[in-house]
Amino acid sequence: MKALIAVLAGDGIGPEVTAEAVRALDRIAQRFNHEFEFKEGLLGGAAIDATGLPLPPATLELAQRADATLLGAVGGPKWSDPGAQVRPEQGLLQLRKALGLFANLRPVVPHARLSDVSPIKEHLLRGVDIMVVRELTGGIYFGAKTRSATEAVDECRYSLAEIERVVRVAATLARGRRRKLTSVDKANVLETSRLWRATVDLLLPAEFPDVAYEHMLVDSAAMHLLQRPRDFDVIVTENMFGDILTDEASMLVGSMGLLPSASLGADARGGLFEPIHGSAPDIAGRGVANPYAAILSAAMLLRHSLALTPEAEALERAVYRAIESGVLPADLIPRGVATPGAATPGAAAPEAPTPRPAATTRAAADAVLAGL
Ligand code: NAD
Repeated sequence: MKALIAVLAGDGIGPEVTAEAVRALDRIAQRFNHEFEFKEGLLGGAAIDATGLPLPPATLELAQRADATLLGAVGGPKWSDPGAQVRPEQGLLQLRKALGLFANLRPVVPHARLSDVSPIKEHLLRGVDIMVVRELTGGIYFGAKTRSATEAVDECRYSLAEIERVVRVAATLARGRRRKLTSVDKANVLETSRLWRATVDLLLPAEFPDVAYEHMLVDSAAMHLLQRPRDFDVIVTENMFGDILTDEASMLVGSMGLLPSASLGADARGGLFEPIHGSAPDIAGRGVANPYAAILSAAMLLRHSLALTPEAEALERAVYRAIESGVLPADLIPRGVATPGAATPGAAAPEAPTPRPAATTRAAADAVLAGL
């Protein structure tokens, strides 16, 4: 297959981890005989510095033309003045909107080797495999906003069509998994949630009779995610609830450095794939960022936009093998067990049987490539 992949590395650790994801895709192309062309574009702070705009027209044109876009992260202290007219995050929001990416997919699969990195008890994590589908372009984040000296209003609005299209994405994913869908809302209080629930009740039996579904209130879902995470298969929810629940769910895995995401529109082609973490200015430039989330995002790109499932699985297996063999960047090592790049014999916490140095970004990616 020939594919054009837009690479928007962004700021901070974005370029460091994206470079490793591109190397992994290059290796996949060689091994499976594909031709991937990578074209770089400016986004976020780097784009503001170069052009004055967080999403320059050339970057948008590239992403619109590409078969898929691989993104690093945007933002950082240099551009974080709250009074600034132009901000890196605007570039990301504009890009998602312009590409019509309404469904955000975040797989949450804790790894047995890393159970001590998660704050959740190990026995609760065994067998957990959740796909959260968050609506990305509607709801209260995009509603009209007004503010006076004494009052502020954020409007929350959803149309039937907006709900249907994201529920269809989630139900289709459930069909390829354990055929269970949990629709999360706040239908006891919110009118938008009552429309959401009614839409699910009509759509699922009519179009997905083979998928079992349930409704769950968002407060209850927040609790059950920690109490019995194994019971979830696919979760679908509106924008703000999804924003909050996905950060909560990331704690099941233990580190943001392991969590990929995909943002999809009406066509599978042209999706946007990025780690869920930000630009991590505190560690940028030191070569210690965890590249696994970026590489797993590249695997999602192969699966969802290029329909290359065996290639995606090969890349995911290579990441899991690297983790199993103990190649762990600093964020995957429990505190007190090792320090980045320098394990001091005898300095480990008493509960650590085999202290070892944290892997650098390059060493972790090399371990993945070695498994391909
Ligand atoms: P962050 O995700 O950048 O970092 C939070 C913590 O996690 C930091 O201690 C960081 O060192 C660590 N971390 C994150 N990714 C890591 C990785 N791959 N390997 C090892 N450690 C990692 O969030 P933040 O500090 O709140 O935000 C920093 C900047 O990133 C801000 O400007 C924010 O606006 C931006 N941001 C961007 C995105 C995006 O581009 N999608 C998302 C979130 C935050």
